[in-house]
Amino acid sequence: EVPMTVRSLSEAMGRPAKAIMSILFKEFGEMVTINQIIEEETALAVALELGVDLTFKRQKGAQETVTEIVEMEDAPEDLVTRPPIITVLGHVDHGKTTLVDSLRNSKVVEGEAGGITQHIAAYQIDYNGHKLTFVDTPGHAAFSEMRSRGANVTDMVVLVVAADDGVMPQTAESISHVKASGVPMVVAMNKIDLPDVNEQKVLQDLTAQNVLPSEWGGETDVVRVSALKGTGLDDLLETLLLTAELHELKANPNRPAVGVCLEGFRDEGRGSVAWLIVQKGTLRIGDAVICGKSYGYIRAMYDDMDQQIEEAPPAMPVKVTGLDTVPGAGDHFVVVDDIDQARALAEERRHEGRADVLSRHSGGPRTLEDILG
Ligand code: GDP
Ligand code: MG
Repeated sequence: EVPMTVRSLSEAMGRPAKAIMSILFKEFGEMVTINQIIEEETALAVALELGVDLTFKRQKGAQETVTEIVEMEDAPEDLVTRPPIITVLGHVDHGKTTLVDSLRNSKVVEGEAGGITQHIAAYQIDYNGHKLTFVDTPGHAAFSEMRSRGANVTDMVVLVVAADDGVMPQTAESISHVKASGVPMVVAMNKIDLPDVNEQKVLQDLTAQNVLPSEWGGETDVVRVSALKGTGLDDLLETLLLTAELHELKANPNRPAVGVCLEGFRDEGRGSVAWLIVQKGTLRIGDAVICGKSYGYIRAMYDDMDQQIEEAPPAMPVKVTGLDTVPGAGDHFVVVDDIDQARALAEERRHEGRADVLSRHSGGPRTLEDILG
């Protein structure tokens, strides 16, 4: 059996070691150090006490070993359909930003600009009563950096390929990152309004990258659009919604929120501002949050139109204020019972300078190897 220490348990549960030690003392009368090995039953009892659902994954064999500690899955009856989170990738100048703007302007009523002026990292649109969340990363590097940190927020990718240019180096790189991630992809063949487009060449280029268009019997939908003129956007949105439906994206909204920071920055007057995307649960004003090495109570929340909001359900991107420092892209956040837990955990992380390992704690299954680093 892989030994479990107070430290690894703390990291797996996202709760401060101090809280675990204090329970061990109160409930079991045991004084332990952070590196002390604890029994599995004891760990489960501690988890129960702290309100964390823990389950131990085992590897079958002569000697049964615990290989993973994972947060317990939500019960199926608690899961409800959530909006898809879609990342837009493609070669520079192929029209990613224009597409994103165009989708947004045509489908979202322009709101008043709020006090926070910072470029938008993610936003949500409403299409015929269906919400879709788009994440605008600077490119495939950000996409794979987030994934390498265990921040797998993307459900789908829209690969933008300009019809007058075809597959270019960053298109090919994006394709290989998407393939490695296993995330479904829809191609937006953009700029079809231009006179000198070559649709066949784009399809051939894609095929050469082992992305076989569905019109050629493959699995990848290629939707013709003009981000500039607003052509084909309904088609693209319908395709994305169909893909989302196929993958049955669900989350439990009735639990403390967990999610990922897409971007953090300092705003004059408001201090630290973080773009968060909620993955499970609902984030509310007043929640005590730990995000990477930052912590605090959520003081205010803003949607992508800078409108103040009170709560954010799964897949909703929000800007929040109230964290003591600026968190980084890819930092996981968790709502904890009280601010003391958040502070203690943040301080532990700052001390140990092990944020990379520690911040993975809410990212789904982790191996003990990961946790123990
Ligand atoms: P990004 O680098 O992929 O984000 O590309 P941008 O969205 O910044 O677009 C690059 C250039 O292509 C800009 O000058 C856009 O106006 C232009 N562009 C984007 N989409 C279209 C389109 O559908 N048709 C035409 N003709 N130009 C487009
Ligand atoms: Mg751009």
